Amino acid sequence: MRKSKIVITLGPATESKERIKELIGEGVDIFRLNFSHATHEYHKQLIANIREAGSELGQEVAILQDISGPKIRISHLQTPIHLQAGDILTLSKSETDEAAKVVSLSYPEIIDSIKVGEMIYISDGTIRVKVVDKEADALRCEVVVPNLLQSKKGVNFPNSTLHIDTITPKDKSDMEFGAAFVDLVAISFVRSAEDIRQARKILQANDAGAMIFAKIETKEAIEQIDAILEEADGIMVARGDMGVELGVERVPPLQKMLVQKANAASKPVIIATQMLTSMIESPYPTRAEISDIANAVLDGADALMLSDETTVGNHPVETVRVLADSIVEAEKIYPYYKFDEVSEEESISSAAAMIAKNLDPAAFVVFTRSGKSAKTLSKFRTDKQILATSYSVKTLRQLKAVWGVTPTYLSSEFNNSDELQYAFIKRAVDEGWIDIKKKYIFTFGYPLATKYPTNVIRVMERESFNYLFNKFE
Ligand code: PGA
Ligand code: MN
Repeated sequence: MRKSKIVITLGPATESKERIKELIGEGVDIFRLNFSHATHEYHKQLIANIREAGSELGQEVAILQDISGPKIRISHLQTPIHLQAGDILTLSKSETDEAAKVVSLSYPEIIDSIKVGEMIYISDGTIRVKVVDKEADALRCEVVVPNLLQSKKGVNFPNSTLHIDTITPKDKSDMEFGAAFVDLVAISFVRSAEDIRQARKILQANDAGAMIFAKIETKEAIEQIDAILEEADGIMVARGDMGVELGVERVPPLQKMLVQKANAASKPVIIATQMLTSMIESPYPTRAEISDIANAVLDGADALMLSDETTVGNHPVETVRVLADSIVEAEKIYPYYKFDEVSEEESISSAAAMIAKNLDPAAFVVFTRSGKSAKTLSKFRTDKQILATSYSVKTLRQLKAVWGVTPTYLSSEFNNSDELQYAFIKRAVDEGWIDIKKKYIFTFGYPLATKYPTNVIRVMERESFNYLFNKFE
């Protein structure tokens, strides 16, 4: 049973319902919609396709809305511009002229805050220019690292602090659109905990209970990581922009630091970008990519994400298969059972994990409303499957992002704990989730009422299963 989860981005290569069903079959847990591109109408169709695919397969999958944030892009180009080292590229407030190597920016005001001598990175840093002259409405830049400049590529200003809101008016309207549909929201270019509070306000005003993931991809976010992690429900190690903003050589140590902090806080962490880039073209991955996947798993990632591989790649299904297989292999040498940091409120979950270590049950069954107790148990990284059961579909979908947790639905109509557990067992036996000849560890709140958090660990074996069967049959 694979423990680390798979997130994929949908796009032209994967947008049809049939393709999505195939991808769920390969083990995709979460579908990411990238709001840097496409219209609400397009996303609405994707959402319909995902929900229909999930219900036809009888499986809950989660939808992650990734809002674009203040990502600045160059203008639309009719033809790409061939840049050579030493060329002058002009970034203008209003003009685009491919032949004269002049492009405009999606946020022209930024030009005011850039100084002569600063470096500007374009297209994930594959093009680098240095500002050599500044005029009222344009920056003249000398090309230092040349490459083909294509339409609408992203621009990073690693030397400047941008005086621009993290959540743009477009982001707000995208979140309002997504409120009714999505389970998780990822906020791009987060710089402070305040950004997360603002996102939460927008969601609350729209009655949306989505989990908020902070995408960590700026210097400021690294500096503020503790406060951000406290406010967010999870984080994403956004290696693409992080590599540009902080330098690619810093990405692996930052990844390890971020994963470790998220694990300690028992909040899910997604590792994103360039996991299997070579498979956009090739049917086979590089060894380095497989090593990267294995290391992300061993670092402690909850989920691994694909981007261009599945939006525009030539082999999206094969890529997911390679990712899933590589995760499973890495998990064979996973350092299971981590009890480094246990807070007071994690006492019950850590004790349950400890019992499992000695007792070797087939799985855990966690009865949870909000999903919190499943997340807490996941923190201790047991090698046993965690079957989380809830009547809240939202909770179950959000648990798709959490390491080692398999969500299972059960309706809420029960009078007491034994009745609830009996109902679960009946369903679980029918569905093949459990085998009552084996041992299980149940955790739940007793008595059955909202105000009781998880306070009981019950070891279930033949006799205790029989007790419940005798009581209710
Ligand atoms: P993006 O975020 O794909 O939206 O830019 C991920 C990253 O920067 O790695
Ligand atoms: Mn990014």
